[in-house]
Amino acid sequence: DLRDLRRIHPYLWEIPAGYREDMRIPCRIFASKEMLEEIVKDRSLEQLVNVSALPGMQKAAYVMPDVHEGYGFPIGGVAAAAWPDGVISPGGIGYDINCGVRLLKTELSHQELQPHLRRLGERLYMAVPSGVGKSGFIKLSKEHLDKVLEKGVPWLADMGYGGEEDIDCIESRGCLENGDPSAVSSHAKGRGIDQLGTLGAGNHFVEIDRITHIYDQETASAFGLFEGQVVIQIHTGSRGLGHQVATDHIKVLLGAMRKYGITVPDRELACAPLTSPEGKEYAGAMAAAANFAWANRQAITFFIRKTWHEVLGDQGGHLSLLYDVAHNIAKVEEHRGEDGVRRKMAVHRKGATRAFGPGHPEVTPRYRNFGQPVIIPGSMGTASYVLAGTESSMELAFGSCCHGAGRQMSRHAAKRAVRGERVRDDLHQQGIQVYSGSMAGLAEEAPMAYKDVDAVVDVVEAAGIAKKVAKLRPILVIKG
Ligand code: 5GP
Ligand code: MN
Ligand code: MN
Repeated sequence: DLRDLRRIHPYLWEIPAGYREDMRIPCRIFASKEMLEEIVKDRSLEQLVNVSALPGMQKAAYVMPDVHEGYGFPIGGVAAAAWPDGVISPGGIGYDINCGVRLLKTELSHQELQPHLRRLGERLYMAVPSGVGKSGFIKLSKEHLDKVLEKGVPWLADMGYGGEEDIDCIESRGCLENGDPSAVSSHAKGRGIDQLGTLGAGNHFVEIDRITHIYDQETASAFGLFEGQVVIQIHTGSRGLGHQVATDHIKVLLGAMRKYGITVPDRELACAPLTSPEGKEYAGAMAAAANFAWANRQAITFFIRKTWHEVLGDQGGHLSLLYDVAHNIAKVEEHRGEDGVRRKMAVHRKGATRAFGPGHPEVTPRYRNFGQPVIIPGSMGTASYVLAGTESSMELAFGSCCHGAGRQMSRHAAKRAVRGERVRDDLHQQGIQVYSGSMAGLAEEAPMAYKDVDAVVDVVEAAGIAKKVAKLRPILVIKG
């Protein structure tokens, strides 16, 4: 109920820790009053309260303005468990482990690209296979798949698919150290072995955008962004491999909870102590799947660069990586607790993006004075944004912000409301080319299925957890 919410300021609300007996920490909601009235209509706040009851939770459990209900945790949720006494929960990470977004910068303006757009679209659609269960162009041996799971992008770069410049612009440099191939089942490996360099279905995309507005000239220059510039967004994750890792380990954790005396308000919050054998195994498998996802976005980058060069030749210039962010992941980081003391925590971000502020040692030196680049996709018919992390985000939300506009209609409701052909034609009218193998998929992804991204980004900026750098508009979208 809205009346149970305490207003901290116009864009931050709190459910006090006393609201339900089992809460260990308060819950905080980044949203405007109008958004809140929508948010209370689904189960996301109940799910957030459930999260606050997990063992070892620190400071507060948060949701971002793009929140909607998910498996166990709400999508758009951030919660941190004390290290080493807290828990790790696959529901707080999601089935698509390390789903995330990267953005490539081009040296071309929209006008310069225009004459080549059609051919580029056709070629990109072939170069980045999309759809459920599609296989890619990279043939990995089992041994090499294990290398990807253990070493992520740096290994793939050594194989010729990228360089140090790319690695430097990826969150965690494209590799979590505890990636453990032996914790990934052979079923999961079988699903992933031929999927490197593939997009997957539905919500995943490769999108060519143009920058329509710069909000912060100094930061934009440091990021290498300018008005009129063509940029490319890649949104995908760990494909069938990550999904299988989640499925396998949720089963194990459900069985292990009793052993550790853990009770959870919702079975979808299955979890285990970070230091337990089951918790460590899941963490190792999760890290391996995260490494696979980063490698996947790197492989797609390789094929986009190749295609770009084939279509545009030398005139096309270089495609450099702005940044690559994860939005479904848990990582051990140091943050201040409610008592102001800094300590290690396992920060779960599920449909939420890391947004570290200026000066943070984990932000590459090339951007360190400005804060970490944050990439916020909107929809295939609206704006997307590049933001920068802020110092206050570190204190307000464990250095996190939103991950997109967020769904406001279920896939099912969207399909009932509009036909895919209609969505495609409407976008065409607006000068946006769409390539997709599935008309039903397009309907599920219709821009009206998503919240107002401008309003979402306004809230995160007003609340001080990120600041606007650039606004993007789509030109061409390849949808899974
Ligand atoms: P998710 O990872 O939750 O599926 O999606 C992240 C966000 O991407 C969504 O909340 C939505 O705002 C955005 N999004 C979904 N499809 C598209 C698309 O085709 N283009 C762009 N730019 N954004 C999209
Ligand atoms: Mn995903
Ligand atoms: Mn995603």
